[in-house]
Order: sequence, then structure tokens, then C-alpha cells
Amino acid sequence: MINDKRLNDALQAYTSRTGHVLGQLKAALFDMDGVLYDSMPGHAKAWKKMCDTIGIDCDENEFFAYEGRTGASTINLLYQRQYGHGADEETCRKLYAIKSENFKALGLPPLMEGGREAVEEVLAHGAECVLVTGSGQASILERLDRDYNGAFKLRVTAHDVRHGKPDPEPYLMGLAKAGVEPWEAVAIDNAPLGVESGSRAGIFTIGVRTGPLAEGALEAAGADIELNSMSECAELLARLL
Ligand code: CA
Repeated sequence: MINDKRLNDALQAYTSRTGHVLGQLKAALFDMDGVLYDSMPGHAKAWKKMCDTIGIDCDENEFFAYEGRTGASTINLLYQRQYGHGADEETCRKLYAIKSENFKALGLPPLMEGGREAVEEVLAHGAECVLVTGSGQASILERLDRDYNGAFKLRVTAHDVRHGKPDPEPYLMGLAKAGVEPWEAVAIDNAPLGVESGSRAGIFTIGVRTGPLAEGALEAAGADIELNSMSECAELLARLL
């Protein structure tokens, strides 16, 4: 259950941080991996396998910390560390394709428990759902319509932005696609970099700890409120809407 006092404190803190009062919600901006799908363990495996294939040293768990970055940004980070320089665009494209194939080969990731309830809550109140993901993973993007009943017509993906999370650009673009102001929306993300992006866009940001992060990690990254599951998020959305 969402504690009333915690929610009121979060709303007040948001108002003093942004100068805005959270208005009637017109849109909810959802991250995808770790929010709509329980896909992060698979992504970590797929990155590790790609690295093993081309001889880059890495630890499978480190990829949880990079969540929210674009594929190219993660590849550049790995290259910097291994070779002391970044990767060119063609290399990024090739390596991301290998990683995507590895991910696809693992089969379809399960839906995140509580994800559908959260989305249905938004739709039931006549508000818009917007996808804001750093992913360009075609195999999962293609499933969204079926798994979430066409709720995500408006999408910001890796292909749309110049600067990925933690830059505010992805969430700002999400607001623009929905045609709403920051105080008419909430952002829902499970990763520190994603939470930072939503917060910097001036949006009331709900951090959902669906992975192996420590308690408080998402609030430290700028989340206005930190929850433990998407089921809790559905409950909070019902209150905010
Ligand atoms: Ca995520």
C-alpha cells in the first residue's frame, strides 16, 4: 500500500523542486525494459555473450548499471575501457546487431508483473501512454502492441534521440509527442539513468525498483518517489489520476 504521508511529501517536494503543482494527469511516460517487461536479466546475458564473441572483458552484472543507455553508448564505454578509444558508428551498428540477435535467441521475455494493471489504470482515466525507451530492440518493440493492447502508439526509442538517458531529451520528446506539459505527466523508470532523465525533464518521476538495485538508489538518482514493484505503481497511478 502507498503510504499517504509519503505520497504527500513527494508531491510537495516535487512542487518545491520544479515550481509546478502536479496537475490533472494527461500522460504517463513508461520506460520499457524492467518496467513493461522483465527483460533485464536477458539483456545482461546478451551483452556478455557479444563481448565474449569479440574478446571484450566484462562482467554480466555490470550491464544492470548501464541500463537506460543507448546500445551505442554502452559499446563506446566497453571500447574505451578495453582499447582506450571509442567505437565508430559502423562498429556500434554491427555489435549492437549481434547483441540483439543474442537477446532474441533467448526467447520472449516475460511481462513485468503489474505492468498491464498500471497501463490499464492510465487508459481507464482517458490519459495517454507514451513509451520512452533507450532500446532499439526490434524483437521486443514489435510485441508491445499485442502485449499491451495497442496502448503505446506514441513511442520514443533509441532511433529517435540524439542524447539518450540520463539526458532529459528522451522524456522531453515523450512530453512533446503527447502534447503535454511536465506537470501534466508522470515518468516511470526502473534505472538510475532513466530516473535522472525524467527528473531533469521536470516530470514527477516514479522510480520502480524491479531489479537488483539497493533501496534508496532511485531516490538518490532523482526519483520523486521510489516503489518496489509495478503493482505498487498501478496503485499509485490510480491515486494520482
Ligand atoms: Ca529500464
